[in-house]
Amino acid sequence: MRLAMSRDSTTDRVGLCVSCEHARSIQSARGSTFWLCEASKSDSRLRKYPQLPVRQCVAYRADAEKQHG
Ligand code: SF4
Repeated sequence: MRLAMSRDSTTDRVGLCVSCEHARSIQSARGSTFWLCEASKSDSRLRKYPQLPVRQCVAYRADAEKQHG
């Protein structure tokens, strides 16, 4: 139950990147989590570090493992 609540909270805060195959989460030494968009390397419409939460994205691709993992 606690885990589910935490996941929902992250989804609310981050948006689509949570379940996108292009997203990489990076933990800083101070404990903050940054979300990096790998698709931004080849798509100039995207930011390397998207402004969160991402509610709509032209390059979103659902990652089955992230959605169920
Ligand atoms: S493609 Fe969009 S949804 Fe996916 S990681 Fe990049 S910004 Fe987030």
